[in-house]
Order: sequence, then structure tokens, then C-alpha cells
Amino acid sequence: MVLVTGGAGFIGGHFVKEWLAHMGEPLVNLDKLTYAGTAFRLGELGDDDRHQLVVGDIADSVLVRQLLHTHQPRAVVHFAAQTHVDQSIQDPGVFVHTNVVGTYQLLEAVREYWSALAPVPKQAFRFLYVSTDEVYGSLTPGQAPFSEQHPVRPNNPYAATKAAGDHMVRAWHSTYGLPVLTTRGSNSYGPCQLPEKLIPCIIWNALSLQSLPIYGDGSQVRDWIHVSDHCRALRCVLDSGSVGETYNIGAGNECSNLSLVVAICECLNHLHPRPDGVPYQVQIRFVADRPGHDQRYGMDGRKIMQALGWVPLESFEQGLLDTVHWYLNNPEWLRGAAYRVQAAAAGA
Ligand code: NAD
Repeated sequence: MVLVTGGAGFIGGHFVKEWLAHMGEPLVNLDKLTYAGTAFRLGELGDDDRHQLVVGDIADSVLVRQLLHTHQPRAVVHFAAQTHVDQSIQDPGVFVHTNVVGTYQLLEAVREYWSALAPVPKQAFRFLYVSTDEVYGSLTPGQAPFSEQHPVRPNNPYAATKAAGDHMVRAWHSTYGLPVLTTRGSNSYGPCQLPEKLIPCIIWNALSLQSLPIYGDGSQVRDWIHVSDHCRALRCVLDSGSVGETYNIGAGNECSNLSLVVAICECLNHLHPRPDGVPYQVQIRFVADRPGHDQRYGMDGRKIMQALGWVPLESFEQGLLDTVHWYLNNPEWLRGAAYRVQAAAAGA
């Protein structure tokens, strides 16, 4: 079996469901169920006895050691993190707790467990760290996309704490021989994402006839990947990645924030026109830029494609349309998620 952390979050929730559907192997899912984690995402698993949700903190080393001892996983897939950049600017301490201290505690518990394994399971064991393109910092408009050799130069507290985890994982391999794998995924989108992140935020605000906030002039570029392509890449790296290696995961979908917001408005104009027939674009408002805002992320994904044969399957146009459809068909989810985000932002 495998131990997954943060499997009630956006990507982790997809990973858990797709893992059980494709691999069938049991997993234990350790998640603190912060505002960002919800068992709803896993609801369709029902009483599936291959999945066990344990509510707890990755920084709780006693709990983590007990889970490793009891379940004897062959791998750990580490998603759990605080992930919202704006919140990391308001309150970086909680990001240090989970993304740095939590990752450290997890690594130490895993190192102790792995060190005591018999030779065959010890050889087969893997620790997969789910990192992000944000650790690289920012590209200028004409610069080549990030390769895995690009320097790590994070510009905001979220990215800095993820980079700290990334560095520790590398060091635990170099120093102790822990068999680690690291992935740096690009901006992921799809169903069941909280509307603190750009795509569901724009859909929620559009449907509730609020303004569609765009930082600065909206020229910032992000590289988008559908969550199911991201999760398939993670399974691929876990299955056949080389120990100690880092793999970028990107789908080559660079898009400015303004173009993306306009594309979402176009989807909504087509699928769910405003009652007055006016295009949703009229709700766009430019707001003061985020401090430390990276101008451009772009991923060179050739390594994972050439070494492991993974390719993205979802086109951005179709994936975005399907995603807008999903939120339109799940208004209760979107409303509930918007209230969770508001409550978290208000410190409730
Ligand atoms: P998310 O915010 O949706 O989910 C995070 C999950 O971690 C939640 O279920 C939360 O309850 C859990 N968690 C938080 N603190 C915890 C703690 N101390 N102990 C246990 N569980 C805790 O995040 P996401 O968007 O699904 O991202 C998952 C991982 O993928 C993160 O590590 C993130 O850095 C990485 N990543 C995300 C993206 C993206 O675009 N969303 C892209 C690349 C990499």
C-alpha cells in the first residue's frame, strides 16, 4: 500500500480517486482537513475499504511514525501543503509550519522507517515530493521555459516554503540515501478546486455577478495542466522515475491571466449567458498587483516525456470547457467552497 499526504485537497483528491481506479492498490490518506481539504472530494469512494482517511497533521511525528509502522507502505506521496500564494503573503507562519517543518518531520519519520526495512522492500521504497514550478521564480517574456536545471529562486512565501521542502528532499537523498523522487508541476485546473484559485474564482464571481479581479494588467503568464494529466504524470514518475531525479510536469499551455479570464467568460457566455445577455467580460476589473508577483511561468517538460514516455492528453481548450461545465453542473459545491474560502480569509 501507499501513504498519501494531503489527499483531501484538490490534486491529492483526484490522485486518490484515480489511483484506486487505475492501480487498485490500497492507500492511507493523511490529511489535516484544513479549509482547503474536504472529505467531500472523496465522497464517491463511499465505503471503499482500499481507502482510509486519517485526519491529522504531517508535523505530528508520533502519528506519522505510527501510520508507517502499522501500514508498512511501499511509497509515500507527499501533497500536503498550504498552497494559496495570497494567504502566504498575509500569514507566512502557517506555510512554514506545514511546508517546511511538516515536510521535515515527515522526512525524518520516513527515513527512520525506511532505514529499518528489510533489503527488498528497502530497495523498492520511494518518497515522492509533489513540488511546483513556482520554486523556479519568474521568467521574462522571451526566456526559454524552465528546465529542471533552472536555478531555484522563489519570490513569494508559498514558493519559498515549497522550495525549502524541495531542497530538504534532495538533501535527504544525497546525505542519507533516501530514495526520493521530485516533481515540479505547473498550474493545475479541473473539477473540485477551491475558488481562491484563478479559474474557479472567476467562474464563481462571474455567476454571482461580482467583479472579476485581475492583478495588475493581467499580462502575467501561467502554464496550465489538467489535474488528471498531472496525476497520471505522478503515477508515471512513482512507477518508473529514477531515484534522486526531478521531473517537470507541464503541458505547454502558456496563457496570460487576462486571456484566460476572457476565455472563461466566452465559455460562460456560450453555456450560461447572463440574464441580461451582456457578456461576462463587463465584470472584469483590474486591481493592484500582488507583491512579488511572478511575471511568467513556462515549463520545459521534455525530460519526463523522453525518459518516461508520459504525454499530456487533455487539450487546454477542451479541458477548460469541461471544467466550466463541471462548475455549472455543481453549483452547491461551488457555493460551499466559496464560503469556505471566505471563512478562511476572515480567520474563522
Ligand atoms: P490544496 O490546498 O487543494 O490541498 C492541500 C491539502 O493539504 C488539503 O487537503 C489540506 O487539508 C492538506 N493539509 C494542509 N496542511 C496540512 C498538514 N499540516 N497536515 C496534513 N494535511 C495538510 O492543494 P493542491 O492544489 O491540491 O496542491 C497539492 C500539492 O501540489 C501541494 O504540495 C502543491 O504545492 C502542489 N502543486 C499544486 C499545483 C496547483 O496548481 N494546485 C501545482 C503544482 C504543485
